[in-house]
Amino acid sequence: MNLNKNYENLEQNYLFTTVAKKVQEYVAQNPDKKIIKLGIGDVTRPLCKSVIDAMHRAVDEMAVQETFKGYGPEQGYAFLREAIKKYYQSHGVALKIEEIFVSDGAKSDLGNILDLFDKDNTVLVPDPVYPVYVDTNIMAGRKIIFINANENNEFLPMPDESIQADLIYICSPNNPTGAVYTKSQLKCWVDYANKNNSIILFDSAYEAFIDDEEIPHSIYEIDGSKTCAVEICSFSKTAGFTGTRCGYTIVPMEIPNLNQMWLRRQSTKFNGVPYIVQRGAEAVFSKDGSEEIKQNLRYYQNNAKIISDTLTSCKIWHIGGKHSPYIWLKCPDSMTSWEFFDYLLNNIQVVGTPGAGFGKNGEGFFRLTSFGSEENTLEAMKRFKQLFG
Ligand code: PLP
Repeated sequence: MNLNKNYENLEQNYLFTTVAKKVQEYVAQNPDKKIIKLGIGDVTRPLCKSVIDAMHRAVDEMAVQETFKGYGPEQGYAFLREAIKKYYQSHGVALKIEEIFVSDGAKSDLGNILDLFDKDNTVLVPDPVYPVYVDTNIMAGRKIIFINANENNEFLPMPDESIQADLIYICSPNNPTGAVYTKSQLKCWVDYANKNNSIILFDSAYEAFIDDEEIPHSIYEIDGSKTCAVEICSFSKTAGFTGTRCGYTIVPMEIPNLNQMWLRRQSTKFNGVPYIVQRGAEAVFSKDGSEEIKQNLRYYQNNAKIISDTLTSCKIWHIGGKHSPYIWLKCPDSMTSWEFFDYLLNNIQVVGTPGAGFGKNGEGFFRLTSFGSEENTLEAMKRFKQLFG
């Protein structure tokens, strides 16, 4: 028996454990201080009424002989796939039902989709980025090329014709930077991918935060994308499903073999998302459900605006927040990410996430999130103003 040696190449990710440890130590020494956490990447608002009602109804169905459900289709129930199809239509994107695969979330699909690609493929990953793209490819032993996202390109790197890559990760709106690509920028990536026979893995987990008609929610709003892009999305941030678990992946028919391979992969290694959860996800797209989830999104968007306005008034460079729950700021006075973390914790008891944890270009930057309560966000920003204003 030989173990997968690629696991030895994974770097320990101490980011969130170090954050937790530092906060714990500080609290032990300063029990009277109130800590405000603006580092969390998880939603805090509860599931909306329409989702809860739909799931209750589905639970009741499971108790009755005539409506009980056993194994469902591995690709997801038709009612949910139809609802997703309609949602894409509202953004001007025509999908076939067979192109939509329901899953238990974007993280699983991001890892699992790699089953379809050869180990010898080269992977292009922006730096900084959601660490799952890097680690899943290290586990498989693939060569990774990093593309720099930095202040000069406003954390939106564009294709470099001198780089050859087979798989390209794009996350827009981005975690951790909150940066979002325009249509014309995404068109450059699509043209590059088609020219090089590459596949774009487009992570649209935060698309629901987009607040501008001109900004694409889906890569399929871009001409030519059906021949080169797989899109992975999730109900986690859209509708608060981080603990409920549901997402979906779109694999277009136009890409040779890939749709059939993904169907084969999913029906072999996956047995579908619970019926109850899929009924909840379907309700996200109902008339009432979509209004209710928008209320939660607006709540987070308002927090993001509070943070962004405060940083502007304190003259702290930052991006994100507008189409994203993340605000990405440049640490003042050339502090490193961890120096700034300690500075905030010790002086105003506000906790964020050091940018260095998301890649080397994250050094000197810091991520704040809008997933906290409005009350805490306001209090944290009052403290920011006292320190930097
Ligand atoms: N993609 C990005 C960019 C994320 O930030 C996250 C979670 O934070 C995910 C995917 C995972 O989503 P899910 O909860 O659907 O697994």
